[in-house]
Order: sequence, then C-alpha cells, then structure tokens
Amino acid sequence: MSDIRNEDLKTGTFDTWAVIKAKRAVAVNTVQVKVNHKAATRQAIIVSLRREGYTVETRAQWKAKEPPGSPKRDWDYHGIAIHHAGNSFSCEADSAEQLRKAERIDFEKFGHLSYHYAIGCDGLIYEALDIRNKGAHIAVGNTGVIGIVMLADLSVHGEAYKEEYHEKSLLGKMRGIFDWVPDKVDVVTDEPPEVQIKALFALVKALRTYFPITSLGGHREYQRLATHEGRACPGAYGMILVNMLRNDLKLGGPK
Ligand SMILES: [Zn+2]
Repeated sequence: MSDIRNEDLKTGTFDTWAVIKAKRAVAVNTVQVKVNHKAATRQAIIVSLRREGYTVETRAQWKAKEPPGSPKRDWDYHGIAIHHAGNSFSCEADSAEQLRKAERIDFEKFGHLSYHYAIGCDGLIYEALDIRNKGAHIAVGNTGVIGIVMLADLSVHGEAYKEEYHEKSLLGKMRGIFDWVPDKVDVVTDEPPEVQIKALFALVKALRTYFPITSLGGHREYQRLATHEGRACPGAYGMILVNMLRNDLKLGGPK
C-alpha cells in the first residue's frame, strides 16, 4: 500500500516484543510478533482507516494547537460518546475551519480540544485529541470514553429547551440564556451527508478493533448517567446515528 501516507505518524519510538517458538526438527514458518504500545495503537487506527480509503488528518497535519502543560492520560476505553459540534456550526462551512472553531471554543473552556476525533460533512476524519490523552467531552464522565464529534448542527429547533434548559433552576436558566437564545432562533439543521455517516461507521469499527468497546451513546445519554443533567447534544439526527450504530454493530448503550 505505497499510496498510504504514513510520514506524519513517524514520531517517537515503539517498543516491540517478539514471541518466537522454535521446535526441533520442525520447520518454523511463522513468527508471532506482538506489538504492545500505545503510540503504535494510535498509528494503527489511523493507518487502518487510510487503507480503507478514508482521509485521516493527524494533529500534525491539520496543525493542531499544542495544549499548555502536560495532558491527563487515559487508555482503557470501553465506550464511545457521539457529539455534534452545536448550533453555531454548519455543514456548509469548510470542515477544517469548523474544527479550528471547535478548538478555539474548547481551548477557552478546557485548555485543549475535548474530543478525540472529529468528522467533517465532507467525510474527512480528523485526529482531534491524541487517543492517549483524556477527553473533556462529558462533564464528570470522561474516563474510558472516546469522544467523536460530528462537525455539524444535528439538533432540531427547540431541543436545547426540551432536553436541557427547562430543567434548570432560575440561576441556571439565567446562566444558560446564551445557549437557549441561539436554540430558539436555530431553524437550520444539518442532515448528515452519506460520506460523513460512512466515515463515522468506519471510525467506530476501527476503534472497536483496538479497544474492547461495549457501549456507545449520545452525549445526552452519558451526561444523564454522570450528572443526571440534560444535554441537547448530539441532537435528534445525532441520536438517529447512535441508534443505527448500536443496531448495526451490536453495541449496548451507556450504563
Ligand atoms: Zn456533546
């Protein structure tokens, strides 16, 4: 597969353990090599998607901003949370631009991008946060959960009120007014294009190959579990995708 670009992945060194079994008087034809390294797993996910024909932009390729300080680490992933970028995002815009915008918003809130992967409406898959680092996509519930964001607005008019705003205290309502007002006037929703859905399915399948993923859910499902709070994310269209993924890939919901 000489057409697969791997130059951008060749950073750092890998430790590889080889197990060799030789039997006397028997021809040895195979050697089992066990690669056991987190950096290698990060690469393998990206390379496997490229081999299937998907375009994956690594953090180095899209020139992600390096977070200040050392990141929190996470690794034993068992779940995947699906997000949409929000009401101020659009499928019409350039996906790299949309990712930059998400990065700007997340840097202000968390000091780094909150999701591990982002998928554009053009089908491009972006490495948003190095998979070795802990996400910040669910309030008090990120450990062991990979975050994927669809760079689009997948919620329908009034969802933020229904799922989130009406439950808040008066103080919470006042604080949340800036989320609620755009929702009230949000009349545009992105229906995810087929290339974006295909990329999402391919990414989830690839992640399942490398991690023992048993559950997949929308942000709103994970958030209810973690803090009993409502969230509009990933929107009505996002929840349709969540149900499709769970059915097709025989995955359970968050628990
Ligand atoms: Zn979300």
